[in-house]
Amino acid sequence: MTNPDPSPVAPNPPEAAPDPSLFDKIVNLCKRRGFVFQSAEIYGGFRSTYDWGPLGSLMLRNVRDAWWRAMVQERDDVVPIEAAILTNPEVWKASGHLETFTDPLVDCRNCKERWRADDISDTCPNCGSHDLTEARPFNLMFKTFVGPVEEEASVAYLRPETAQGMFVNFLNVLQATRKRPPFGIAQLGRSFRNEITPGNFVFRTREFEQMEMEYFVPPAESPKWFEYWCDERFSWYRRYGIPDHLLRLRQHTAEELSHYSSGTADVEFLFPWGWGELEGIANRTDYDLKAHAALSGVRLEYFDQASGERYVPHVVEPAGGVTRSTMAFLLAAYDEDVVAGEPRTVLRLHPRLAPYQVAVLPLSKNERLVPTARDVLHRLQRRFVCDYDETQSIGRRYRRQDESGTPFCVTVDFETLEDHAVTIRERDSTDQVRLPIEEVVGHLSGHLEV
Ligand code: ATP
Repeated sequence: MTNPDPSPVAPNPPEAAPDPSLFDKIVNLCKRRGFVFQSAEIYGGFRSTYDWGPLGSLMLRNVRDAWWRAMVQERDDVVPIEAAILTNPEVWKASGHLETFTDPLVDCRNCKERWRADDISDTCPNCGSHDLTEARPFNLMFKTFVGPVEEEASVAYLRPETAQGMFVNFLNVLQATRKRPPFGIAQLGRSFRNEITPGNFVFRTREFEQMEMEYFVPPAESPKWFEYWCDERFSWYRRYGIPDHLLRLRQHTAEELSHYSSGTADVEFLFPWGWGELEGIANRTDYDLKAHAALSGVRLEYFDQASGERYVPHVVEPAGGVTRSTMAFLLAAYDEDVVAGEPRTVLRLHPRLAPYQVAVLPLSKNERLVPTARDVLHRLQRRFVCDYDETQSIGRRYRRQDESGTPFCVTVDFETLEDHAVTIRERDSTDQVRLPIEEVVGHLSGHLEV
């Protein structure tokens, strides 16, 4: 079983090589087991968009919950908000998104394909032509119209990040909660970017889900909090099962830093095609609060009554992706081994992330077994997310659950009717123990509520 609490400091990862064959295996498993489907597949799909199926929805929810637990529930210095996706376009003017949230684009004059200038040299990857236009900036925000008239005055944008919701609510939250720096505002939610080159399955999509937190601190303390959040966020991925050799923290070089940042580090995962960002931790200084104060005319400051000091807090931001990290958790958990001479595929997911924590399996559909199995199911459902499966042979059902990442199977057999005990099978070791029904919830919670 995954180690639930590794030490907070990671050793330097050994040199690891990406495994390209894993990509197709995960994409296939995601479809087969119902994690991720192509969106509108019956219509031929839709431009790198995906729908999350039954297991995928359960797992996304678990990833959100794990983040929420670490970032909100287990802290007294962070409060949540849920801001609107559509908001006043002035927000995007102040944040710099209207002006600078762009990718350089080139068009191929020969085949009319459009490319991100950074992705190609001077050759069209589609037709090989060198007849390309000059690079032009292309804004990644999705534009829409609010109300019935499609005119300039009613233009609005789908948010390209959740972070601005925290900045524009800074004063409201400060006044409503009486928090004082250092404190944070956290938000989970969908964001939208008109990415030129979406791809690599759910790694880069145009609609995705983010998990972001803005941590407001006295200016002199920002380097200390930057270090703190780098450690916290790195440890979070390790705690939920990503092994050290697939994880690294990479500091941005001076050339890479965004205009507003005085320090950025990315938590990176070794994807099948190489290292890719899971989360960025940035010291955003006072850039955002000052920019919104300047455009709105509202002072966005903190007044410290004890010291009589008034200042604009600096902000440290850990910004991660729910959908992207779910893909990383799946890739890290994928394994193939041999059990009793038979090959099997198993997702060794952390028990908090696995879509189902327990599966209840009557040995057969026999009418004497089913009521007892359902009784066991109802006891467990109050505490855990459970699957129930009475089709096919027990061996095949175990394999299905292994492929879905279910940490425990509880089997009800004919002996259960006599001794009121069930067999509990653990996913990774396939070890089995027999326990009285009364003890099952207690036994499993010791393993699952970690
Ligand atoms: P990238 O360089 O990969 O485009 P970014 O640096 O622009 O990412 P941020 O703006 O820092 O990303 O967003 C924070 C997080 O949101 C990223 O680390 C990633 O997990 C997630 N994210 C950003 N863009 C996408 C996308 N198009 N699809 C899925 N997740 C995304």
